[in-house]
Amino acid sequence: MDKKRRPVIAGNWKMYKTTSEARNYAQSLVGLVGEISELDIVVCAPFTSLPVLKEELKDTIVHLGAQNMCWADEGAFTGEISPRMLLDVACTYVIIGHSERREHFRETDEDIARKVKAAIASGLKPILCVGENLSQRQEGKALAVVRAQLQHDLLELAADDLRKITIAYEPIWAIGTGKTASSKDAQEMCAAMRSTLSGISGSIAEKILILYGGSVKPDNIAELMAQPDIDGALVGGASLTAEGFAQLIKNACIA
Ligand code: PEP
Repeated sequence: MDKKRRPVIAGNWKMYKTTSEARNYAQSLVGLVGEISELDIVVCAPFTSLPVLKEELKDTIVHLGAQNMCWADEGAFTGEISPRMLLDVACTYVIIGHSERREHFRETDEDIARKVKAAIASGLKPILCVGENLSQRQEGKALAVVRAQLQHDLLELAADDLRKITIAYEPIWAIGTGKTASSKDAQEMCAAMRSTLSGISGSIAEKILILYGGSVKPDNIAELMAQPDIDGALVGGASLTAEGFAQLIKNACIA
């Protein structure tokens, strides 16, 4: 694999798996991907499974991530989980601004900007999700929507912190639908996003990882990975079995 930036393949379990299911999964995945050195592997699990995964993934090549966090380190925020708590259970990554959080839990770009800043300040690596919905794409507004999200969500960051962020381009119409953006469309959008990032951060943009997400499967990952501005994938449904996710990771290495 010949990539400019070290790729990341991150699985997003969403709201699936009990702690015993998480333990079994981790043991299988580690056995299946133990030899892979070409890219970084991340599993983003529900909060309840993180302590079990901390144990199972210790000293393995699989990194642990959460799917959301609060911007505060502690305080009167009933029901929330802080960056400090995520670090305590060995998370190194955290997904921020997933479209399901924007849609079902009304997270705004202002919330997301605060979370991105807090994640970086605490030493977590944020995976910031952006992407347009179907009508925005059909109206030719996809790039404008994504640009506005990037501009708002990165507003709070110092230039030097921008290099610590990973972006996931996830067109909403492709998430969980079985419809993937074509590799050409995904590449075009990721290249346009990189040029927006260079407007914000100059040459740092060349170092920022941009992942694609939206119905990525073992049989389409290699073509996506072959694109110059796609540095990996955020994978929902196809990360839910250890065997399927391991296959997808192996196919990503072939690209
Ligand atoms: C996601 O959860 O971010 C995602 C891209 O889901 P799926 O791969 O199932 O489309």
